[in-house]
Amino acid sequence: AKYAGRNTIRFFNPDMQAAIDARATLETALRRAMNSDELSLYFQPQVDRDGRVIGAEALLRWLPSDAEPISPTRFIPLAEETGLIIPIGLWVLEQACAQLGAWQADASTRELVLSINVSACQFHQPDFVVQVQETIAEFGIDATHLKLELTESLVLDRIDQVIARMHMLKDLGVSFSLDDFGTGYSSLSYLKRLPIDQVKIDQSFVRDLAHDQNDAAIVRAVLAMSRSLGLNVIAEGVETAEQFDFLLSHGCEQFQGYLFGKPAPIDDFPAKVIGVG
Ligand code: C2E
Ligand code: CA
Ligand code: CA
Ligand code: CA
Repeated sequence: AKYAGRNTIRFFNPDMQAAIDARATLETALRRAMNSDELSLYFQPQVDRDGRVIGAEALLRWLPSDAEPISPTRFIPLAEETGLIIPIGLWVLEQACAQLGAWQADASTRELVLSINVSACQFHQPDFVVQVQETIAEFGIDATHLKLELTESLVLDRIDQVIARMHMLKDLGVSFSLDDFGTGYSSLSYLKRLPIDQVKIDQSFVRDLAHDQNDAAIVRAVLAMSRSLGLNVIAEGVETAEQFDFLLSHGCEQFQGYLFGKPAPIDDFPAKVIGVG
């Protein structure tokens, strides 16, 4: 094909224009949502082998006052493309540290660990480490209970810079979980180089664990490999007792999924039953 120049307007068709308009509308709405109280954090429990709550993952929710909730799988990618994820991600960090501060002020919730999701463009901001440091200081929290969930694609891109930055964050006390593990391309050698504390088995492998031999084999391999590398493993998307039993019998240490609790507002978080004994 011939080079058509930079403004190839003639390639747009009405469907594409409609998609662009819908996106622009969503972007405007998201900007507005940030300045109202339509964004909130939900908390999904993470449990140990005895089913005791040991922490939570903070998950962003957009609940428009006049419409149906909008899924993060829809608005997070948009926020990433438009750069809105930078202020949103900072807001998530602040909310999470505020919640950790509240937990750490109470003996029954002091040991809880809170995980937050960090987007690649947020992590790559030059001042990301400083922002984490300042937020930890602002809320006076013990940062050893703050965990950052990074995806495989984030850590593989600019890996040397990522590793350096992870070490700076670890010096602050923060720990790392490698999210969606198995869905990307990270090799074992990369995993060894990364200063991660935990691997999170993606729910796509957990879903058919009891029936799909391949998924079962992958999960067993991830658990065996992580054990030999000294990494903690958490499985996400655990919905049935059958899945839980399989994971337990192969040595998985932590669990998250509807079987133990759905993401919910903090007032519904079962925090009071925790850490006692
Ligand atoms: P993720 O980090 O892989 O989060 C796990 C997703 O699985 C969440 O979807 C959670 O609600 C859902 N889930 C948990 N347990 C179960 C289960 O037992 N069964 C099933 N079917 N699903 C389960 P959610 O909340 O819709 O979030 C989707 C994605 O949006 C997240 O995937 C994450 O990539 C992104 N996200 C959410 N909050 C944030 C945030 O604050 N910052 C960033 N950067 N991304 C976020
Ligand atoms: Ca996650
Ligand atoms: Ca996942
Ligand atoms: Ca994900």
